[in-house]
Amino acid sequence: MKNTIFAISFIIFSLSQMNSKAQKTDLIETSAGKLEIHHIGHSSLMFSFDEKIIHIDPYSRVSDYNQLPKADLILITHQHRDHLDTAAINKIHQKNTQYIVAPVCLDMASFDGQVTVIANGESTDFGSIKIEAVPAYNIVNKRDNGIPYHPKGEGNGYILNIGDKRIYVAGDTENIPEMADFGKIDIAFLPMNLPFTMSPEMTAKAAKALQPAILFPYHYGKTDTNELVQLLNSSPEIEIRIR
Ligand code: ZN
Ligand code: ZN
Repeated sequence: MKNTIFAISFIIFSLSQMNSKAQKTDLIETSAGKLEIHHIGHSSLMFSFDEKIIHIDPYSRVSDYNQLPKADLILITHQHRDHLDTAAINKIHQKNTQYIVAPVCLDMASFDGQVTVIANGESTDFGSIKIEAVPAYNIVNKRDNGIPYHPKGEGNGYILNIGDKRIYVAGDTENIPEMADFGKIDIAFLPMNLPFTMSPEMTAKAAKALQPAILFPYHYGKTDTNELVQLLNSSPEIEIRIR
């Protein structure tokens, strides 16, 4: 009997452990069905929608991609190693995997499958999902040689139109003036790590320009996410979710 109770408590304990891991997933209702957002870590995301798996910037250092579902679509924002990682890509590649990448990615890798290259301002469709490429670049933060970490025109941010929801995955960017013209954004993923992307102050400015209903700071490394929460205290219309 004691053993049975022990076994049952162990199972309950294990399930609760699984649940705490499951908090890395958000469920979003769209007019076209449920979207599952899996926060893999750093700037790696996995979306599940309409039985399709979309990986964004898969990166081996944040997960064992052998354990994750294979990709129907892989979106790559730019060529930096933590965003374009062929080792991670190879693990989730399958026969019909499609790729949507920024032009600069082709300098660093070749993709085995149907590749669509889109630059800032262009868009393409993946099934019922319209995917828009938007600018992602530095204005303030530069290397010692004066070249921005992310020069304008190289990398993409992506806006995914899923049903009635518009989901903005920013890639590596600062708060750029173009954000004011993105239109309605329901969910925004904004990077927050200096010196490569944004400080909490810059992230707050970007959020105020975008006015997303839900804001996920991501790619935040050791940045204190509380600073962002404080800075957006006066904008209760934006729900900040730290994952
Ligand atoms: Zn980068
Ligand atoms: Zn990065």
